[in-house]
Amino acid sequence: MLFISHPDCELHDMGTGHPESPLRIDAISKAVKASANNDKITFLEAPLVSKDHLYRVHDKDYVDMVFENAPDEGIIRLDPDTSMNPHSLNAARRAAGAVIHAVDLVVATSSERAFCCVRPPGHHAERDRAMGFCIFNNIAMGAAHALSTHGLSRVAIVDFDVHHGNGTEDIFQDNPAVMLCSSFQHPFYPNSGAATELEHIINLPLPAGTDGHAYRNAVEMKFLPALDAFKPELIMFSAGFDAHKDDPLAGLMLDEEDYRWITEKVIQIADKSADGRIISVLEGGYDLDALGKSALAHLEAMT
Ligand SMILES: [Zn+2]
Repeated sequence: MLFISHPDCELHDMGTGHPESPLRIDAISKAVKASANNDKITFLEAPLVSKDHLYRVHDKDYVDMVFENAPDEGIIRLDPDTSMNPHSLNAARRAAGAVIHAVDLVVATSSERAFCCVRPPGHHAERDRAMGFCIFNNIAMGAAHALSTHGLSRVAIVDFDVHHGNGTEDIFQDNPAVMLCSSFQHPFYPNSGAATELEHIINLPLPAGTDGHAYRNAVEMKFLPALDAFKPELIMFSAGFDAHKDDPLAGLMLDEEDYRWITEKVIQIADKSADGRIISVLEGGYDLDALGKSALAHLEAMT
């Protein structure tokens, strides 16, 4: 399995006390490097994404605005929750570049799985705006690249972050070649998704307090049959671990074994229609201990 990251992703810093902190990458890297599966993982550095890839899923004006406003010093704000320091543009370009690199390696060669350990996260970034700690929509760029450059016909994105993947829905709402399965606490930030009625967007709103048992039942009812019928040629995870019971930002009650479980279930579908190909991209997860343990369970299931 491939583990793709870059030191630039730890230099993006939105200020002391911001939950989306550089320590998140460190927590996952340490857990993975200390694991028994360490010898089955190849560690790679993420390239910088090109503007052409960014323009595929974002409006040109928005991309150009981010490049032009990237600060040489201090911090500028893109959204109430999202800001840029002098390293943020490169971090955001590495985060998206990791996913493009993963698609090239996983789809075109025999490396069947990859985890992109990157920040800033991406699934809240819409076509024309940064939002919720996200600057560019990393996973959407990867899915678009798999379709247009590698000629795939169907890509599925399973988003188990505790927040709705509104950015990914915004980008692919008119593109049935991408199925999005997004589970999320509702009502909760960003308060979208519960009313969507599209065949290729499968949203699963869950009340605060939902535990692993209820979560697994809901995934078995809503996600797994839809994914199976879609016959994806590549499955991607928007892997946010903030539905963990120890997460300080949200109120679902999953634990690391639930992440292992959903990963294994989705792999069974990937083995049927996608030659086992899975690419996972880090989104949220803000309790460092829970994040390390949950990401490790997810990676153990993928390895
Ligand atoms: Zn989240």
